[in-house]
Amino acid sequence: SAQPLKYRRILLKLSGEALMGNEDYGIDPKVIQAMAKDIVEAQRAGAEIGLVIGGGNIFRGAGLAEAGMDRVTGDHMGMLATVINALAMADALEKEGGFARVMSAIKINEVCEDYIRRRAIRHMEKGRIALFAAGTGNPFFTTDSAAGLRASEIGADLLLKATKVDGIYDADPKKNPGAKRFEHLSYDEVIARNLQVMDTAAFALCRDNKVPVRIYDMMQPGALMRILRGEPLGTLVDA
Ligand code: UDP
Repeated sequence: SAQPLKYRRILLKLSGEALMGNEDYGIDPKVIQAMAKDIVEAQRAGAEIGLVIGGGNIFRGAGLAEAGMDRVTGDHMGMLATVINALAMADALEKEGGFARVMSAIKINEVCEDYIRRRAIRHMEKGRIALFAAGTGNPFFTTDSAAGLRASEIGADLLLKATKVDGIYDADPKKNPGAKRFEHLSYDEVIARNLQVMDTAAFALCRDNKVPVRIYDMMQPGALMRILRGEPLGTLVDA
């Protein structure tokens, strides 16, 4: 921890599916606890952390619509799923000795705070990990877009997107052994190539607000701290 952090304020995006581990639904307690440990370690090292968690391990609006449900209702269910995940993560963070506040884009005041930008920044400055739940609060958006939005709002020095792959490749590395990982891409390149690592809307927000994005493998031990100290793990997307 003697090494200074390159990034002070970060927005970390975790997909809901990341919380499943090897289960096929819901939350694997071991997986969420291991993530929480890394996040609390980063907070203790001095990082101000905002977290956006997806809901794909429980419900996705698009999937529910395919099965016949009204799309907007499905999106409401998906957003509520992200609240469930955020509550679970807050609990896991507190078990690691961290301090966490869940802030929802949809009012559920008996359960968590509302998202209020200045209050969120205050929480982070005081060492509390802010969990931004319910995405953007609007149907037809995703939690990737919410991550780009919140990162821009809080003035994040970096948006970290944790995935199962260690960056962006020119082909699917699971199918093509020769696939090459990019160390760096511009916002416009990822958008033009339609690489599907994160929504186009999210990349466009980050581009317009000059928030660099790093795509990394969350299963790589110590990856979060290494990135915060400036190691070039995964793929960097910026101007
Ligand atoms: N969602 C939404 N608006 C938002 C964010 C999310 O309607 O601003 C809904 C949408 O139905 C989405 C679901 O919540 O499918 C879960 O979010 P997402 O699919 O982004 O989760 P992830 O893939 O990261 O687990």
